[in-house]
Amino acid sequence: MDLRDLHCIVIGAGIGGLAAVALLARRGVQVVVLEAQRYPGGCAATFSSGDYRFDAGATVGCGFHPGGPLDRLGRELGIDWPVHSEPLAWQYRHRDLRLDLLSSRDAIISRFPRSKAFWKEQGKIARLLWQLSAEALPWPVCGVRDVADLVSRSLAVLPDSARLLPFMRRTAWDWLRRYRLHADPEFVRFIDAQLLISVQTTSLQANALNAAIALDLPVAGTWSVEGGIGTIAQQLADSIERDGGAVLYGKKVTRLDTINREVLGVETADGDALATDMVVANLTHDSFVLLNNSAPELESPASSSSGWSAFVLYLGVDASLFERAGADHLQIVAPEGELGECRSLFVSASPAGDAGRAPEGQRAVTVSTHTRPERWFEALRQGREAYEALKQEYTDKALTLLYEQLPEARDAIRSVTAATPHSWENWTGRLHGLVGGYAQTSLFGVPGPATKYNNLFLVGDSIFPGQSLPGVVTGARRTVELILRRAARQRR
Ligand SMILES: Cc1cc2nc3c(=O)[nH]c(=O)nc-3n(C[C@H](O)[C@H](O)[C@H](O)COP(=O)(O)OP(=O)(O)OC[C@H]3O[C@@H](n4cnc5c(N)ncnc54)[C@H](O)[C@@H]3O)c2cc1C
Repeated sequence: MDLRDLHCIVIGAGIGGLAAVALLARRGVQVVVLEAQRYPGGCAATFSSGDYRFDAGATVGCGFHPGGPLDRLGRELGIDWPVHSEPLAWQYRHRDLRLDLLSSRDAIISRFPRSKAFWKEQGKIARLLWQLSAEALPWPVCGVRDVADLVSRSLAVLPDSARLLPFMRRTAWDWLRRYRLHADPEFVRFIDAQLLISVQTTSLQANALNAAIALDLPVAGTWSVEGGIGTIAQQLADSIERDGGAVLYGKKVTRLDTINREVLGVETADGDALATDMVVANLTHDSFVLLNNSAPELESPASSSSGWSAFVLYLGVDASLFERAGADHLQIVAPEGELGECRSLFVSASPAGDAGRAPEGQRAVTVSTHTRPERWFEALRQGREAYEALKQEYTDKALTLLYEQLPEARDAIRSVTAATPHSWENWTGRLHGLVGGYAQTSLFGVPGPATKYNNLFLVGDSIFPGQSLPGVVTGARRTVELILRRAARQRR
């Protein structure tokens, strides 16, 4: 089959879905994206509320460094991303400790001198991993051909990759222990805070290789995006349309029509039925079950249904607050206790120069914390009053921690809106509002794009390598590779 005769439907215009379909459209495949919302981006969308444009979830642009997943994607699609390098990725605050996360580790090493050798090794491993991710390694392997590909690509490109092998089964905690850093609670708390926002778990459980790349994000660089992070999704949608594809909004897919191991087409909430050769689903495993009333029975095991959601505050704030704070992104950790559930916050203000995001003299601020969804849906079952009370409790807790580090915020906040796991479920179609991808505890048994259907593939942060813009773009390349391979097989 000529690629120009191949019809592909993509369910969902998150970054993973858009990246995959933009690459397919560039190769001549006829693509249609069906998006339930009226805007693209999902967890990495920017939305209007009153006079503000808030980033819904993701706020920090990563992967735009030369050769990084977004850089490569942009060059391949002819997109000149409207991004600006941020010299300070974010500032970590716990009690009196303030650490600037920059491209250099010097500030961290000067506060934790015994960590120097650890960072040296982390840097080496991360460099290898970034190179390997550029190769879109066939992981998890799907058949004998992938095994051969994996060995030849990793060894031919990077003979050094053998150095990674001992880390494949280690946790970040094992790694810290090798450097006797596990006994420094302040250092462990700092590392855990970094890991929770990236690999969705802390050092005791996080896989060492996943941790190595997560800890490298500030070093590889972070970027602000003109107009908010949602501009990335919009530019991908524009690229798809330039290449002859269509992105249709307000099109919620409600059913897959299948026969045996083939998907024949999809049905939408507004009564349309579309036939197709291939489907790419930008969905979590659980959302897929909702859609199809049956599990996709992934060739790899499904992601766990127990995961994190997010509680988020959207604040309109006087700009002077962030000028005094000295950073647009702050990671604030409570004096004691476990992370998440308003005991750790990630606070991001729209850039000072981005006039379209907030009224003059103000900033649009997104404050997020990890939360487990169960309590929220239990409150919903009890009724609106219980749910609203829980929302108020979380709002108060988050603001109290914010005031602990930024006391001037008490007088600087102009508006407050809260989003809960229930909001995330509505916005992204993810059952229980499970956002942030799977906890990266192991490289084995992770879900890949293949499903029990020959012509249906998954994309997004619930497949390897998981969450973040660079994560889902890397995963999208793998999805595209499998689709092209299947198409080539049909051609023979
Ligand atoms: C609070 C928070 C903060 C984050 N911070 C960062 C950060 O700073 N930097 C970073 O790189 N990453 C960050 N991330 C992670 C990043 O946003 C996600 O990993 C990534 O955006 C997920 O993309 P995805 O492709 O999986 O799609 P999703 O974002 O899940 O999008 C899926 C899309 O599919 C649509 N859809 C679902 N069901 C249907 C259906 N039945 N029919 C039609 N359409 C449907 C949804 O409406 C949605 O638009 C953050 C995430 C969260 C939640």
